[in-house]
Amino acid sequence: MSAMTSPRSARHVLQRLPPRIVRLLRQLGQLADEQGSALYLVGGVVRDLLLNRRNWDLDLTVEGDGVSFARLVADRYGAGLARFERFATARLIFTDGLKVDIASTRRESYADPAALPDVVKASLEEDLFRRDFTINAMAIQLNQPCWAELHDPYGGQGDLKHKVLRVLHDKSFIDDPTRIFRAIRFAERFKFRLEPNTARLLARAAKTDLVARLSGPRLANEMFALMREDRPEQVFTHLRRLRLVRFLHPRLVLGKRTERLMAVLPDAIGWWMRRGSVTCPDRSLLRIMALLAYAASSTISGSIERLQLSAVQARTLEWAGEQTARLVKILSGETALRPSQIYRELSSLPDEALILVLAKGFTLKKAAERARLTARLATFLRRDRHVVTTVNGDTLKQLGLQPGPHFKHILDRLLDERLDGRVTTAAEERKRARALALRYG
Ligand code: ATP
Ligand code: MG
Repeated sequence: MSAMTSPRSARHVLQRLPPRIVRLLRQLGQLADEQGSALYLVGGVVRDLLLNRRNWDLDLTVEGDGVSFARLVADRYGAGLARFERFATARLIFTDGLKVDIASTRRESYADPAALPDVVKASLEEDLFRRDFTINAMAIQLNQPCWAELHDPYGGQGDLKHKVLRVLHDKSFIDDPTRIFRAIRFAERFKFRLEPNTARLLARAAKTDLVARLSGPRLANEMFALMREDRPEQVFTHLRRLRLVRFLHPRLVLGKRTERLMAVLPDAIGWWMRRGSVTCPDRSLLRIMALLAYAASSTISGSIERLQLSAVQARTLEWAGEQTARLVKILSGETALRPSQIYRELSSLPDEALILVLAKGFTLKKAAERARLTARLATFLRRDRHVVTTVNGDTLKQLGLQPGPHFKHILDRLLDERLDGRVTTAAEERKRARALALRYG
């Protein structure tokens, strides 16, 4: 084992984990003793234990061969094992569903900035040195003789105490520009400030085109992770100040309007959840939609391509710009609208797009416009969105009609008339269906 600066006991913080996990960690420590390797709990979970925040993402690291240790554990416990050869890591899935990631202590050498690192085995101290910030560079040992010893060679505990985010060396952001985003994420989540040198290094890295070299999925990953934080408005300020959204698209800029929209987004989600929701919206996707809410269609499609989003995400995100702007105009306008007209506009929208329409509505200056838009959306969510006709394709066949494209026309018309209250009973519907059949048949 490598020389370490005075380990301190983290016995009491380990007790913050559920007892069954503590028991498991003890047993794993004993297994590591048998195998003659040192075993540690490491990274984010250690930080969160010290902060007394709930986090059961268990990352273990073995000084030695992590994968063979994982195999040993899998055999003993009948746990599932997935291996990621490239990074010398493995994931154990225990029979009760608990997941534990196991890696070997390693150092990383970056062949090319922003690329994934090459992996070389190394001591715990070196392994901790390759990490992003001092607060994430601590380990708790699990071997029996050294149970719960805290390894903190870079002053992570002190930085936690002083609420400071600090990189481990000056090349950190260049080695891995995703750390620019991670810095924003942790600073906001914990309300930590960046240590001055770290802030300088970050600002300098953000000015270069390092982020442009990240692959689509890696950049998307960082953006979504940022948008999952509780206070996206704060995150937004960082993104704007550092001009980081230019890496989604060179023409994307964040103005006051976008800032106002981000600010009302939580209200819009709350309003929507109280009324229409059966499913939870994808909040991070919604926030990314908000970032793109006033961008041109070409900027939105460019960003979708840059992030290599899935087809489903892309289809939702495409609603972000002009499409929702058009709907806001219609729904807030003075022109009278029949329920069926509103239904035709809104029924194919993903929930996130509806919420964005609402949020944009909240930012309208005129109270009358805001009122019209929210009232119309409320009626759609509460009532019209659920309206169905009693007549369907089968009924039409029973009425003696031959199936064909006219079925859709008839059913669409019937739904419109139901929505608009022109037919209200099943009998009326059948009567109307017959009449429409004569027209369309
Ligand atoms: P979160 O609570 O958001 O999951 P985390 O610190 O646990 O934060 P993870 O992405 O789960 O972050 O990674 C676990 C640990 O791996 C980190 O605490 C850190 O030690 C290390 N790590 C992750 N990503 C990087 C990176 N880009 N550069 C250096 N170290 C990293
Ligand atoms: Mg984590």
